[in-house]
Order: sequence, then C-alpha cells, then structure tokens
Amino acid sequence: MTDHYDAIVVGTGFAGAFFLLRYLQHAPPKARVLVLERGRNDCKVWQLRNRRTSSLNTEEFFINNNPEKEWLMSLGFGGSSNTWWGGVARMMPGDFQLQSRYGVGTDWPLRYEDLETYYGDAEVIMAVSGPADSPMPRSRPFPLRPHRFSDTDALLKKTFPDGWFHPATTRASAPTGTRGICCGAGICELCPHDANFSISNGLRRLHDDPRVTLRLQATVEQVETSGDLARGVSYTSDGQLRRATADLVVLAASALFNPHILLRSGITHELLGKRLHEQMPVDVCLNLRGVKGYNGSTIISGNGYLFYEGEHRRQHAACLIETWNSPFNYRRAALRAERGRWTERAFFRFMFDDLPRADNKVTVNAANPHLPEVTFNGYSDYAQRGVDRIPAMVDTLAKALPIEEIESIEVARSTSHIQGTVVMGNDPATSVVDRYLMHHRIRNLLVLGSSAYPTASPAYPTLTLSALSLWAADHLFTRSA
Ligand SMILES: Cc1cc2nc3c(=O)[nH]c(=O)nc-3n(C[C@H](O)[C@H](O)[C@H](O)COP(=O)(O)OP(=O)(O)OC[C@H]3O[C@@H](n4cnc5c(N)ncnc54)[C@H](O)[C@@H]3O)c2cc1C
Repeated sequence: MTDHYDAIVVGTGFAGAFFLLRYLQHAPPKARVLVLERGRNDCKVWQLRNRRTSSLNTEEFFINNNPEKEWLMSLGFGGSSNTWWGGVARMMPGDFQLQSRYGVGTDWPLRYEDLETYYGDAEVIMAVSGPADSPMPRSRPFPLRPHRFSDTDALLKKTFPDGWFHPATTRASAPTGTRGICCGAGICELCPHDANFSISNGLRRLHDDPRVTLRLQATVEQVETSGDLARGVSYTSDGQLRRATADLVVLAASALFNPHILLRSGITHELLGKRLHEQMPVDVCLNLRGVKGYNGSTIISGNGYLFYEGEHRRQHAACLIETWNSPFNYRRAALRAERGRWTERAFFRFMFDDLPRADNKVTVNAANPHLPEVTFNGYSDYAQRGVDRIPAMVDTLAKALPIEEIESIEVARSTSHIQGTVVMGNDPATSVVDRYLMHHRIRNLLVLGSSAYPTASPAYPTLTLSALSLWAADHLFTRSA
C-alpha cells in the first residue's frame, strides 16, 4: 500500500478534530485519512500525575521576540483543548461586519447567519452549558442548563437584564457521559473532574475509526506542491524525514504554526504571517461593600455585554466582560486582607477587540527555520481607546454594585487566543484563504483555525473556529464541481 491518502490533517486540536468529525460523516467507507500530530498523547492520568498538560515545553517550539507578551498553548494530542478554560461565547453579528456597520477594520467574508447552524452543532458536540436568554440570535437552546451566578453576577443581572448573562461554557453543569460536573475549584488547566470538554474526552473515538491513521510525534515540515496543487506533506518522525501524499491537505496546526508551515513551503502572500492578534485583556479588581463574590458554580460565572455591540464601535474597541469566580486567579491572590471581608471583592476580565496590525507577525527564524519567530509590537490605538474607557465602565457597574474602591486595573499578558495570520476573505489580493478556508490558489489546501480571522472579536475564538471547521468540511462535499 502506498502512503497516499484521501486527506492529510495536520494537528489534533479543535480545528483538526471538528473537521475530521464532519469529514468522516461525509466520506465513503474506503476513505483513508492520515492525521499527523507533533506531540504525544499525554492522557489525563499522565497530566494529573505530572501536573502539566503536555510533555512538550511550548517555549522550545517558537521564538518570542517580546518577553512582555505571552503566547500560551499546549502541544500534543488534543492541542490546547488540554488546557483551555471552556469559554464558548459566540461572536456577535456585528463582529462579522465591522467595516460595513461601523466603518472600521475588515468585514469577514461570511455573516453570523451563515454560521448559526454550525454554532449550534458545535455547541451540541461540546455539550455547552448556557442560559435560556442570549445576547445574540439563536435557533436552539443550549444542551446543558446554566451554571449558578455569583452574588455579584446576580446583582448585575438584576440591574442590566439585557446586558449580563450566564456564561456559555463547556465546563459541564450536569453529567455528560464522559465528563464530571465542574466543581468551581478554579484550576481549569488541570481539571481533576475532567469536567471541561477536550478532544480526548469528546472526540477521541474519531481517531479509532478504521479509515483514520493517527501518527503521533510526527512534525509536519512543509506542504509539497506542484503548480497550483498540494501533493502532500513532508514530516519528521523518529528522526527521519518522511513523505505522504494526498488529494487534500488540511493544516490545523494553530495560528502560530499554520503560517510557519506555509512560509517554509514557499507558499507566499503579502499578508501571510502578518496581522497576528489577540484581544487586549485587562484585569479589573473592585472591592465591594457587603457583597460576597466567588460563590458561583464555575470559574467564569458571568459575561457582561454592556459595552459590546453598538455605535461606540466606530470610535473604540468593544468589550466582553468575564466575572472570575475563583479567589486563586493565576497571577494574584484575589482575596481581601480584612477579617470577615475576604470575598467582598469582584474580579473581572475586560476583553477588548483589537484591529490587527501588519507589524505583529509570525516569520521563519533565520538561524533555525524549524522555528517560527513571533514579533509583537503592541495593540492597536482602537483597542487602547477602548481600554481608556474602563473608569467610565466601572461607573456604570456601580449602578448595580456597591463599589468601595478600585483595587487594581492591569493589562494581562495574554488571552491565549492567537489569531489572524492566514487571513480569510473574498479577494485573493487581500486574503490568503477564501470563506471556506480553502487557499485561494491551491484549491486542495485548507487552512483551518483562528489563523483565518480577519479581525478579533471580544469573544473567545474556539467555538467559532470549531464551527468553521464543520462549515469547511460540509462545503467540500456540497460544492458544485
Ligand atoms: C490556558 C488557555 C486557556 C484558553 N481558554 C480558552 C477559552 O476559554 N475559550 C476559548 O475559546 N479559547 C481558549 N483558549 C484558546 C484555545 O485553546 C484555542 O483557540 C484552540 O485550542 C485553537 O485550536 P486549534 O485546533 O486551532 O489549535 P491547537 O489547539 O493549538 O491545536 C493545534 C495542534 O497542532 C499540533 N501541531 C502544531 N504544529 C504542528 C506540526 N508542524 N506538525 C504536526 N502537528 C502540529 C499541535 O501540537 C496541536 O496539537 C485557551 C488557550 C489556553 C492556552
């Protein structure tokens, strides 16, 4: 048997696994799919024993030019699903149309309505917990009931019924069959209950399908092309350079590694690797009078949409607020020192959308081309103008909360939401992939994941990128020849 496949999928995180799921639903019984993953399968037991989510040290796999900025991820089977926090807010309709609605940034080449069914599908696959009300249009309810608000969230909901919501989250609020219920202990990176959706506890079975060959510790080096066709990939395994060919090549290696593989393959474009971005995250800690925080039932107990959609987006970034429900936030102890008032505190993360800058980018390191080099020169003025509004936002929150004082306002070093380096669009001159994430010129090369995002939404990226993988796979089988 030759090493030829119908499809090669690079990466076993959300982008690769959600694509594989829908691809296998369409593919004939004799289809052959090769899945290549650079890491090992560090199972939950291994993770808990070793108190880390991967046997690979992330920092050895890329060069970060800016020590002030962190790029967080986990490498190995399941990708960052092994370490993520499970926030799965959908993007708002306006996020897809920033330019046409608000005259800033770029429109996405698809709209909220195009993705709505796929959002619903992805929520079912992840067994998402969420409320009956919602800030965006929905055609079906969340699969699981919402988590319990903290007292802080309950007050905010009472004052702002259309602006404060239970979070959409994959931290289970009821048993799912493979996951326990979230205990709200606030140690999500190493959840002892396996309450959070991961590829391992949700989609591991895909890789046991007889049509699928999974190769771990196989690092893809390049996509091999001839003319306008992808022929396959070269990859390193057991210290040897190997090749596999396929009719379809699917890169799902994340917004850091997708552009690196393409650049190394000589597949160039003016924008490839550029416009790297995340949301601008700011942690806001408020001392309250007589209201206890930290008593919700999961780590993020509320989401605030008060400063998200609206005409203000013409002037400055929109904001999604998270209520952090753990006194053990990973940078600082968030308890108060006064006796009896330890939990009279609200800890919020404000996430602002960023307008991508071309000087924030992923390139190939000149000394060691095996490594991507990440350059980050700062957030956009648009995001900073949003951040400058925080004191006014806190004044608005004070309508619901008895705020004694602002304890701190700090820009965090990462949202862990890496995006934007293989941008999608309708015009091949200003984008690398089309609305179905197919390369504009190489029509059998898909590049999946948040690398395709033309702009950052204030919302978390993973539900959207998972929905896009389902959408891209469906399109392969439904498009006209
Ligand atoms: C601490 C943390 C918390 C987070 N919390 C949230 C959250 O609450 N909500 C949210 O929406 N998002 C969250 N994220 C982000 C989320 O994890 C990512 O958006 C998501 O994992 C991206 O999925 P992906 O499949 O594109 O990439 P990944 O999950 O990174 O998977 C890519 C896979 O490709 C493999 N790979 C890379 N290069 C190669 C190569 N050359 N050859 C073979 N394999 C390769 C990697 O090992 C990895 O398995 C969080 C991330 C972190 C780190």
